[in-house]
Amino acid sequence: MAWKIALAGIGKIARDQHVPSISASADFELAATVTRHEGVDDIENYTDIDAMLEARPDIEVVSLCLPPVPRFEYAAAAIKAGRHVMLEKPPGATLAECHALETMAREAGVSIFATWHSREAASVEAARSWLAGKTLKSLKITWLEDVRRWHPGQAWIWEPGGLGVFDPGINALSILTRILQTPVHLASATLKFPENRQTPITADLVFRHPDKASVSASFDWRKEGDQYWNIEAETDHGTMVLSAGGADLSINGSPVDTSGVALEGEYPNLYKRMAELLKTGEIDMDLSPMVHVADAFLLGKREIVEPFDE
Ligand code: NAP
Repeated sequence: MAWKIALAGIGKIARDQHVPSISASADFELAATVTRHEGVDDIENYTDIDAMLEARPDIEVVSLCLPPVPRFEYAAAAIKAGRHVMLEKPPGATLAECHALETMAREAGVSIFATWHSREAASVEAARSWLAGKTLKSLKITWLEDVRRWHPGQAWIWEPGGLGVFDPGINALSILTRILQTPVHLASATLKFPENRQTPITADLVFRHPDKASVSASFDWRKEGDQYWNIEAETDHGTMVLSAGGADLSINGSPVDTSGVALEGEYPNLYKRMAELLKTGEIDMDLSPMVHVADAFLLGKREIVEPFDE
């Protein structure tokens, strides 16, 4: 039997990934949407989360695809109404509100899942396995993309809580926190803010590794042409390059075929994991990628750069 699920915030990611993944899933049935504009064809739409929760007690799960700032109120309302909750990345606008949601979910006895879709990219687990037991010498994240191409018209990414370049950068950090055996923490950062924007357009991060490996990340939203989402690691057993956002892996220059892993895709895997959490009554609220982002805002040196317009 499939769980009835409601999807809230019908924007780019809901349409591109969540709707098709739910349609293809045997575990879930899309029973309603909550969005202030156009919903999904043939699915009942509500413009208000409370109205949906009251009218549809049969809906057990709510998946939230809103930007981070408005997400807390929706998640809190769903938990209060006894529904299980799935959160797009980042799981909230602040760490404290994410902790509050986890506490509320535990008290209500419902599952909550802070999803990190990039961890489900095809080669991430192979990279993690290869790094296990090796001595890390250095790791460099290079995440260079064109904001105009990937986020047209998304004003929220430039507003407080919208994260700016950390919106994609947190995907890299979600992979980093998955593949490294030993956690790192931020040592220094430089963030560049366009003078007309509230969030950074570039970020350079340096981490402290317990065994003194050199670990750094460079995020830049101004890259036109070729786009780069790469993680390169040097170890005592050679070099690993995880590229295309975690899809491709090469070890010592040779590509690794991870197609046999038979992953269905990032978002189908997230819904599969949500179904597991529902069956076991568990909570999965790993906030480690967001800790690095929060630390960058706490510790980062700020530079004001030229205005940025779409
Ligand atoms: P989006 O295209 O701007 O869509 C977000 C939707 O949320 C909007 O269509 C809007 O729908 C609703 N919304 C916006 N502001 C709201 C507010 N203040 N109150 C209530 N609803 C509001 O954004 P998106 O790209 O789908 O991103 C949403 C989340 O998914 C973000 O956290 C992002 O990091 C994550 N994500 C995005 C991508 C991507 O490729 N775009 C990939 C992975 C994850 P209504 O106005 O109709 O209510």
